Order: sequence, then C-alpha cells, then structure tokens
Amino acid sequence: MKVANSVYVLPIPRSPQEADSYLNLTLIVDEENGTTLVDAGLPDQTEAIGGGLVGAGIRVRDLRLIIFTHQDLDHVGSGAALVRQSGARVLAHSADAPYIDGSLRPLKPSPEMLKQRPQMRKILERLEPVAVDEQVENGTRLDLAGGTQVIFTPGHTPGHISLYLEASKILIAGDALIAEGGYLNGPNPLATLDMRAAMQSVKRLADLDVDTIVCYHGGVVSEDANGQLRRVIKEASRNRNE
Ligand SMILES: [Zn+2]
Repeated sequence: MKVANSVYVLPIPRSPQEADSYLNLTLIVDEENGTTLVDAGLPDQTEAIGGGLVGAGIRVRDLRLIIFTHQDLDHVGSGAALVRQSGARVLAHSADAPYIDGSLRPLKPSPEMLKQRPQMRKILERLEPVAVDEQVENGTRLDLAGGTQVIFTPGHTPGHISLYLEASKILIAGDALIAEGGYLNGPNPLATLDMRAAMQSVKRLADLDVDTIVCYHGGVVSEDANGQLRRVIKEASRNRNE
C-alpha cells in the first residue's frame, strides 16, 4: 500500500494461522540515499517480506538500510536474514541496540508474557541477534525521503524510536501507538514496559504536524491524525484522574 510518493506500508500476516493479524512494515524507496525498511517482522518471515517488497518494485537485495523502531522479536525477527541477503546497514537507538545485537537478552517477552502465550517461546528460540551499525538519538536527522527525524519515544521499550518524514508528514510510530481500522489508540498496556513514559512519548509525537500515522499493529491512520493524537492524550489523562 502506497501512502506517499515512495513510501509504502507492507502488511505481513503474523502467521498462516493468524491471517487476519498483520505486522505493518514501512518501506521507503530512496534511490539516492538508500532504500530503507523500517522493522523486519518475526523470525523466518524473509520470504513474506520479500513478497511484500515486490509490490513496490523492490527486491531484498536492493535494501540499503534497516531501521529498528525497537528490540521486540516481531520487529527484529527477520533482520539478520535480510542483512545477509542485502548487506543493508542497521540503525537503532542506543538504549535498545544492546538487546538487538545480542549483548543483552531481550526484555520481552517477560516471564509473565511467556506464561500467557507459551507459543512465543518457540519464536524466541528462532530469534537471531543483529549487529547495529549506527546508533541514533532523539533528533538525529536522516537524509531519507527528503529529511527524516528520529523521535525518541521510550516506554514500550527503553530505546523505542519513531520516525517523522518531514516532506510527507508521515509518522512511523512503531509500537508507540496502535490502531484499529483507522482509529488511533495509545500504546498497548499489556506489551508496554513503562506506560507513564510511553504516554509522555505520545505527547512528544503530538507536537508534530502529522498527516498520516503508520502503526506497526493496526496500520495506517489518515483521518484527522493530529486530532486523534490529541484525543489519545486526553483520554489517557481522563483515565488517570478517574
Ligand atoms: Zn513492540
């Protein structure tokens, strides 16, 4: 799905058993500065991701950069395999990089999450670490799609980042926000390590002038994106005061 000139959202089914549940990767086609994939699905999804790229006329070996919004296994999953096939450079925030490159064990799934969803254990066993070539911080500006800002949005994980594409006013929110059928929601409390920090991060995102939000879980939000961001903040503060 094309969301702007050279920006595509690639919905990849979580698994054949969950064909109605998608992970929404973003592809930025930029021949000058390097075609870029934001997040890389679960382990063993290289083929599905390659299939998604075809719609944009891109092959895995055309990828020059992979940006991880954060360390979770459904974002890093096929990263190592994609890097082997493409030689792409990898970029992530310094606070999540050690969990991505294998220096530290990923913070999730937590023991409680594993108890609730034991099937995740198998997926976790298949997770390969990925070397991070470049660590970014809040405000890092990438020469990509006419200028892309890294926004530090911790909470879901300590090193979660979102990306703001200045020219198209697209916000790639990773898991800082979720959506359902175009309706924006705050981060998923069941999967978010620090909800307070995560809501502070949503406030930071609401300072941007946004036309389109891409949520990894839930896909594209294009109707009144700024207004929906403000609503999410309002609802969260109302819930806190109740
Ligand atoms: Zn996540």
